[in-house]
Amino acid sequence: MDIVDVKHNNRRKIYFYIREQKNATKQKIAYDLNLSLPTVTQNLEYLVERGMISDEIKEQNRGGGRNPVAYSYISDVKVAVGLEITHHHIKTVIVDLYGNVVKYVHKRQLYERTDAYLKLLGDSVDAIIESVGIDPDIVLGVGIAVSGLIDQDKGMVVYGRIIDNEGMSKDDFSKYIKYPTKLIHDSNAAGFCEIWMSTEHKNAYYINLSNNIGGSVLINNEVYLGDGLYSGEIGHLNLVPDGGECYCGQKGCAEVYCNAEQLSDRTDGDLGLFFIHLKQGDKELNEVWDNYLDYVAVLINDIRMMFGCKIILGGYIGIYIKDYMSILIEKVNKKNSFYEDASNYLIPCNHNVEVVASGAALYYVKDFLDSI
Ligand SMILES: [Zn+2]
Repeated sequence: MDIVDVKHNNRRKIYFYIREQKNATKQKIAYDLNLSLPTVTQNLEYLVERGMISDEIKEQNRGGGRNPVAYSYISDVKVAVGLEITHHHIKTVIVDLYGNVVKYVHKRQLYERTDAYLKLLGDSVDAIIESVGIDPDIVLGVGIAVSGLIDQDKGMVVYGRIIDNEGMSKDDFSKYIKYPTKLIHDSNAAGFCEIWMSTEHKNAYYINLSNNIGGSVLINNEVYLGDGLYSGEIGHLNLVPDGGECYCGQKGCAEVYCNAEQLSDRTDGDLGLFFIHLKQGDKELNEVWDNYLDYVAVLINDIRMMFGCKIILGGYIGIYIKDYMSILIEKVNKKNSFYEDASNYLIPCNHNVEVVASGAALYYVKDFLDSI
């Protein structure tokens, strides 16, 4: 490592140390990182000058000596915006450098492939930034999460049948957005949010159990994309040979049996109501739920056999699954060939409705932190 790398490395170490500790004195930084005081001082000055950390005076020393300066992390020196486009909603979020949600806005809006709709996307981004009084200069970028297969090289949705977005490019979605943008697959955004925010896990498979089924392969805190186009598209794993028709043209895909509408269709499209009635002991809904979990259990077992990693249950169903983990675990255990206990690897998601938009925004936070 040459001298420039060593210097750079020291700065990163100090920056991430303060990020983790939230605040620390110069002496403690030098001691914990095993660096000399002049090295620490020089880097702290650099970071303070750029507004990335602050040097505030700690409370008055009782002994009357000099007050030690505590350097603290500034988590909102930069922020990122996430935008999730679904059939019925536009969801926007602002996250800080810790990934904390600064603001989340959920607007009911039917997706349309029109210029007016694209204008609405731009307006939604501007509105959320203005609503919290954030200086547009500190916005790192806008991650746009959509369904469909995305070719990252072309910056384009190359397969999009869930909403009519096939052939639309990053530039189309960004037409009225005045910040840098990235186009991200919705399940990958959600999975990325879960793994990036997790302090416990680095590898996992994220199942997006929403009105459509998707998944995300997460390796070492990053999304694994195969050879570039996609990976982990479990919605189109075959669950039932020659089964129900899927929108993809095949029969018996997991999509057909595990989508959340299998449940919400029983309660006029209201998934929350489904779970309220289920809790109240509705026998018919209980049967529907039990049947649904049987299919999900097959899917989980297949994923476990393939990847042998933790499996995060997310999406719309992930929000409600905590109360039903023991039933699901029992079903999964019955299918496991190696007598494994699913309670060791099956985990409910940590994030809820904002997860996709947050994950899309976090792609920018990650890039920023990687650039330090
Ligand atoms: Zn399919």
